[in-house]
Amino acid sequence: VFITFEGIDGSGKSTQARRLADHLRAIGRDVVLTREPGGSPGAEEIRRLVLEGDPDRWSAETEILLFTAARRDHLEKTIAPALAAGKAVICDRFADSTRLYQGITRGDLRGVVDQLHALMIGREPDLTFIIDMDPALGLARAKGRNGAEERFEDFGEALQQKMRAGFLDLAREFADRCVVVDGNRGIDAVAADVARLADGRLG
Ligand code: C5P
Repeated sequence: VFITFEGIDGSGKSTQARRLADHLRAIGRDVVLTREPGGSPGAEEIRRLVLEGDPDRWSAETEILLFTAARRDHLEKTIAPALAAGKAVICDRFADSTRLYQGITRGDLRGVVDQLHALMIGREPDLTFIIDMDPALGLARAKGRNGAEERFEDFGEALQQKMRAGFLDLAREFADRCVVVDGNRGIDAVAADVARLADGRLG
């Protein structure tokens, strides 16, 4: 089973991905916890190319190609082999992030994103958790982190608001696999919801 987590910066999706991995392992499942951009040696190299250095280094179009290349490598080297071996794969961000960040935020390029996805990826998760979060709270949390990857997090609240709406739109568009979880609560409460929903889906 292939499970992804999506949400705005600071929504706590990485923490929740880790918590779900812990939960599934505790009930005896073999789990691969991974992330995007990255998740395979090649894709991690591309992550550095995209997230480090001058933010205007790549055009929006080039950035889509780089994210798609990273995802293709991640799929080939990490995700597909794990799924073939019967493992549960939990991924922090996947194609929905590209639909939104590269498809909408950086330009009106959703059509390009979709074409490349159909051509080179062609795989959707079985289950996607959209961790919904008040942008003011998300921004405060994101700013509280001191990472090297400031570039994308210097968004401001208006843009965060747009991203939140975008993720909720994606949840409606892909309603068959997306579940929206209220992330404005404590970590344990959110994790309990996620675990219950995942158990329900996995049967
Ligand atoms: O999820 P994580 O914090 O590792 O993502 C790193 C940064 O890359 C984030 O700030 C996110 O906004 C950005 N990103 C992006 N396009 C994607 C995936 C992530 O701009 N497709």
